[in-house]
Amino acid sequence: MNAVEAKYRLRKDRCHYCKIPVVYTKITRGATTPRNRATIDHRIPVCRGGKNELSNYVTCCIKCNEEKGQLTEKEYLIVLRWRKRQHWRQAILASAAILAIKITVLVRNCS
Ligand SMILES: [Zn+2]
Repeated sequence: MNAVEAKYRLRKDRCHYCKIPVVYTKITRGATTPRNRATIDHRIPVCRGGKNELSNYVTCCIKCNEEKGQLTEKEYLIVLRWRKRQHWRQAILASAAILAIKITVLVRNCS
């Protein structure tokens, strides 16, 4: 199953991660892509052992998809939880955690 097919089978109204309402729009050349455009994300990235199957897909906004990158769903949800507390120390830790995981993944040569 490809990502486009999955997107329509999964069709959800909100981002799986930040819960903002998502929109289903086509990418138009020259037009600005809305930050809440619906995308398909791998809960466990393929390079980290995730499969290309429906159970590994969730609908999320572009913003979360880009930020999550090669993090797993579990790792990214921890980061979001920390950030939600809006405490500067947790927010810094959250950013450091994202960086640390991304570097680990890079070192593992995972693209
Ligand atoms: Zn989101």
